[in-house]
Amino acid sequence: MKVLLASSEVHPYSKTGGLADVVGALAKALAKAGLQVGLATPLYKGVLEKFPGIHPSDLRIDLPLGTRRVEGEVFQLEWEPGLTVYFIRQADFFHRAGLYQETGADYPDNAERFVFFSKCVVHLARYLPWQPDLIHVHDWQVGLVPLLIKHAKERAGWGTAPKTCLTIHNLAYQGVFPRSAYELTNLPEDYFHSGGAEFYGRMNCLKAGITCADLITTVSPRYAREILTEAFGGGLDDVLRQRQRSLVGILNGVDYTEWKTTGNPFLNNSFALRNLRGKDAEKLSLQLTMGLPQASDRPLFGNISRLVDQKGSDILLGALVEMLAANMQFVLLGSGSPLLEKAFQNLARRYPDKAAARIGYDHPLSHRIEAGCDFYLMPSRFEPCGLNQMYSLRYGAIPIVRATGGLDDSIIDLTEDLEQANGIKFYEYSSRALAKAIRKALVLYDRPPLLRHFRKNAMSADFSWDRTTAEYVDVYRRTLAAA
Ligand code: ADP
Repeated sequence: MKVLLASSEVHPYSKTGGLADVVGALAKALAKAGLQVGLATPLYKGVLEKFPGIHPSDLRIDLPLGTRRVEGEVFQLEWEPGLTVYFIRQADFFHRAGLYQETGADYPDNAERFVFFSKCVVHLARYLPWQPDLIHVHDWQVGLVPLLIKHAKERAGWGTAPKTCLTIHNLAYQGVFPRSAYELTNLPEDYFHSGGAEFYGRMNCLKAGITCADLITTVSPRYAREILTEAFGGGLDDVLRQRQRSLVGILNGVDYTEWKTTGNPFLNNSFALRNLRGKDAEKLSLQLTMGLPQASDRPLFGNISRLVDQKGSDILLGALVEMLAANMQFVLLGSGSPLLEKAFQNLARRYPDKAAARIGYDHPLSHRIEAGCDFYLMPSRFEPCGLNQMYSLRYGAIPIVRATGGLDDSIIDLTEDLEQANGIKFYEYSSRALAKAIRKALVLYDRPPLLRHFRKNAMSADFSWDRTTAEYVDVYRRTLAAA
């Protein structure tokens, strides 16, 4: 089977969130499973310098974008056997300080940038020396691809065009632009209707994908159910319900070659379930780095996240104000809303011995926080899958999560199954409910045999890509077999 994946971010070449981790790991896992895999992604600033194996290809791009033509080049990298990454180089669009925004404001030409990228994906699918059977696109940035393919297949003479699969990593981001942006697609006007790319008079890139893809997946079974409801559907629940028979929830996997507690280049100490001395050392070193008193017997809680409404930072702040009087410490790594950034910095100033906040994006520190913490807080309002709770399990930082989306699918609370319990769940979206969950964690911390039991379940939980890959291959097969 031959598959072309497309994503606006891929770890280790670019990343703002979980999307990058998932697409990078999926591409590698599919190639390992014997598929021929291509992966299209923009060539952002600094990538060529950092990965010298990336080289120019013979493929050239010269595509219409509304009333003008835009040129680009294709660079490529043989990443793994059976896996080639195609980097689209278009310096005006992609050589910038950020991927989608700078200083909190989206780039005003994001429609141009990602309509162009979507067209490049279709162009690649058509002119690569190997023709994919299926194009698998991820999130709104490439949501127009299924519509472009549908058009190519039905009206533009490419009858053998590949089938399409869209994965929704987060329905909160849909790529909605003014109606005028639709002209950038150079598609006939009659696709701009409520069963296609139109959404309340504007262009909605994700909706174009939902209405036109042969297969739709999302990143956890529970989120697949949630997005069919008005509360979680972001205005697209109706459209999703209409496509329900083609919608599947597949829980993301974890790349354990990257997220590991032994031989991890970002950690100073290795550790394992049977020998947690290295974890204690990571805790002391993290406390030092974050400017907190070093105390191995004080429970340390952590959070790494984009500081946006989704992640529950508001209830986290409220719960911490209530709980920091207790014998505990808290560290945060995050960036996003300036208001939330300031609130966490203020909290750290108010409780200098108890709380520390690092504002920014820091990949090595994210590994050290997972390794050094006893508990990991993830109080999301909604969470399509969530990766950090799965990373925390492996690093022995017991996750405290709100029971939503993938958090509910991946964490087992003691009230659900004492034998298998690996984390603490709470339900109500409130500081009070989260504070109560933190109190349970403090009790757990004071009972070493029970904490060991949780750690054993957590660290041995297996979310490896083998299962996830098999599920994707299965739905690809079924999609290709369907008429
Ligand atoms: P989302 O994709 O919604 O941001 P996930 O939990 O699925 O949430 O994935 C987030 C990923 O981004 C994790 O790998 C996490 O460690 C990483 N991450 C988020 N914020 C930061 C940050 N400030 N510094 C380093 N890594 C971060």
